[in-house]
Parts: sequence; C-alpha cells; structure tokens
Amino acid sequence: MEFIRPFLSTLETRGDYDSDSMPVEQARRLIQQSLTALTEQEPINLRNALQRTLASDVLSPMNVPPHNCSAMDGYAVRFGDLAHAPCKLKLIGSAYAGHAFDGCLSAGECVRIMTGALIPDGCDSVVMQEHVKADESWIEIGEGHRQGQNIRKAGEDIAQGATVLTCGQAIRPAEMGLLASLGFNEVIVYRKLKVALFSTGDELQQPGLPLVAGQIYDSNRYSLFGMLEELGVEIIDMGNIRDDKASLKTALLEAADQADVLITSGGVSVGEADYVKQLLAEIGEVVFWKIAMKPGKPLAYGKIGACHFFGLPGNPVAVMVTFQQIVRDALRLLMGQQPKPTLAFQAASGSPIRKIPGRTEFQRGILSQDENGRWVVHTTGGQGSGILSSMSKANCFIVLPESQGNVEAGHAVQVQPF
Ligand code: AMP
Ligand code: MG
Repeated sequence: MEFIRPFLSTLETRGDYDSDSMPVEQARRLIQQSLTALTEQEPINLRNALQRTLASDVLSPMNVPPHNCSAMDGYAVRFGDLAHAPCKLKLIGSAYAGHAFDGCLSAGECVRIMTGALIPDGCDSVVMQEHVKADESWIEIGEGHRQGQNIRKAGEDIAQGATVLTCGQAIRPAEMGLLASLGFNEVIVYRKLKVALFSTGDELQQPGLPLVAGQIYDSNRYSLFGMLEELGVEIIDMGNIRDDKASLKTALLEAADQADVLITSGGVSVGEADYVKQLLAEIGEVVFWKIAMKPGKPLAYGKIGACHFFGLPGNPVAVMVTFQQIVRDALRLLMGQQPKPTLAFQAASGSPIRKIPGRTEFQRGILSQDENGRWVVHTTGGQGSGILSSMSKANCFIVLPESQGNVEAGHAVQVQPF
C-alpha cells in the first residue's frame, strides 16, 4: 500500500495540467506576434461607416461650437448693466437657434435668447429665464450674476486643428455623430477584413431541414456568424464540410485563397475523423493546437499561406468562448484596431464553484446586485461545453485562473460582463 500513496498524491497535484497545452496568455501573445494589420484603405460614406476602422487621425477643421452661443434659455445682457442689480432692462428682440438677432445692444437693453442661439453683438452674459421677472417689454434681474455666465465659447468643445479621433479607432455611433458634427460626410477607413467560415461534421444538418437519426443542427456557424457580424467583417460562409480528408483539403485551400482569416469549428480534437490539424500541418503551419482553457482545449492556430487559421473546437459553448477570448482581439488587430482592455471586476461568488487546477476556466455566470448593492455572481448551472443555453442565460464570464482550485461561496472571483 505504501507505494500507492506518493502515486496518488502526484495525480492530485497534477490536476488538469497538460504539458502540450498552451497557457491562455501565451497563446494570445503568440497570435499577436504573427499578425500584421491590414493597410489597404478606402473612402466611405459616413452612413456606411459603422464598425469600420479609421485609417488616419481626424483633425477638427473647425471650432465646436463654431460661434459663441447661449447654453440656456434666458436673456442676453451686458454685464455692466447688472452692476446696480436689482435692475430693469428693456427687451428689444429675440435670438433663436438658427435665427440670430442682428442688431447691437446698447446700455440698458437685453434680448430674449434660446439655447444654441448666437450671442448678439454687445452682450457678454446670459441670465437664465428662471432668474428674471419679465413682461412684454421689460425684465427685472436680481443680484448674484457673473460675467460670461451661460455662454458656450467658440471652440470650447473642440478647437480647430485638435486631434479628435486617432487612426485605428473603431467607428461606433458616437464617432458617427462626432464626425458629422465636424462636417464630414466621408471618412477614410481600412478595407473590410475577409473572414471565411465553415463547420465540419458528418452529423450536422442545416436548420430548417428535418433531422434524421444521429444528426444535430449546425449551431456553430450561426453563433460565429453573429459574432463576426458584430465585429463588422466581410463574411464568406462556406457552409458545412464533410469529415472527409479530400473535401476538407479543398475547402481549406479555397478559403485561404479568398480570405484573410479562416475560422472553422469541429474536427480539431483527437477523434479518428479529426483531420483538420493534420491537413493544416500538411498545407500550412501549425503554431499551436491545444490551449489550457476550459471550455476550448482543442484550439488550433496556424497559417495557410498568408491566411490566418483558427480551428475552433466543435462544442458550441467552446466555440463562443474561444472566439470571444482568443479570436476576436486577433481580428481587431488585423482590422487595424488596438483592442481595448476587457472590462473585468471582482464579485462575490454566490455559491461554491468546482474547479480543478490546470486550465483557465471561463464559466458562464449571472451577475446581479444583492440587497446591499454588492455584486454577486452565480453560475448558470451545468457547465458542459455543449450546453449552449448557458451562454444565452449568462450575462458574464466567471474567469478562474489556471492555478485556481475549488472556490468557496462568498469568495471573490473575477467576472467579465458581456
Ligand atoms: P468535434 O470537435 O468535431 O469532435 O465536435 C465536438 C462536439 O461538438 C461533437 O459532439 C459535435 O457533434 C459537436 N459539434 C461539432 N460541430 C458542431 C456544430 N457546427 N454545431 C453544433 N454542434 C457541433
Ligand atoms: Mg466533428
């Protein structure tokens, strides 16, 4: 019996470690090192620019706001007139946004003014309408005002010539509005990244068609399609390829010929029909094919000619997790963007979590606030890598580092909100 004990304890300490598996951070670094961003540029109409990447810095051609204008609804006055407040001023006209008052104010006069209207000549301050008593032709103003108050100065938001957006910035709705506010109706962006996509598996059937015994629906191509659409790439959907070496080889070569990136799902584990990795070694190069993460251990990364290849696992949850944790930032880099740090924070685990050391785990979690406003996370339940409903129920990943073991209820864990 004595010899069994040391053997058992090595098994226990070895946990889920696999010396062939690449740690997650190292995999990210290796991928980054082999990526070169797109350089081809094209002009694009602002309306079509959502999710595209700016190919140069944008300098403001103008001051924003372009002129001094009112920040409030009220009365434009000469501050000198308020020296002996309370005082009465004569109302001599109105200024609206888009309709300036085109006279000049003399001492003792004021102009009714609306937010965004040009400040009339001679005025240097605006008094809020709530702070005056007014009738048709006179207003009464009390004390306590400041010269220059309630005026938005020309160039206060953005000065002419200032760098407003930098090369590599992804265009989101805020950037579309900002570019429009500066008068741009066209911007220069990098061309769209071309991403080819196929599933592998003889068991897969297209949604919309009946299943025969032994078949399942191909869900990976749809979750991938959605994640790629969100990124704004050009998608080349090659359908489902049979588990047959010749068909796979043709598909790999065809994709590499047309696309900057190829993403496949299935066929990268050690099952008998798993040819993808073998073929990649034959027609391209394999950088790694196992990664120390869960779900998602069989994940191949390599190149076929100039085309980057990501061979994702077949299990539907693993596909989404590996895409979000590994592939997405790689695509952003290729698109010319600088990936932003992933938003993550600590939350208390609402229940114990089972975890074996050896792999970084991305469990699916539901994050909520307890009665004291503290963030608490619960897992979605079963964490099998085929349970796609867990991704749909979840609103965050619970990220458990490689060396982490079981987590007790109440302990802090890192969460990444979706
Ligand atoms: P594989 O890596 O090809 O052995 O696939 C692992 C598991 O994922 C198997 O149970 C497959 O049936 C399943 N799977 C593979 N591809 C897909 C897909 N496109 N949609 C849904 N399930 C899949
Ligand atoms: Mg398969």
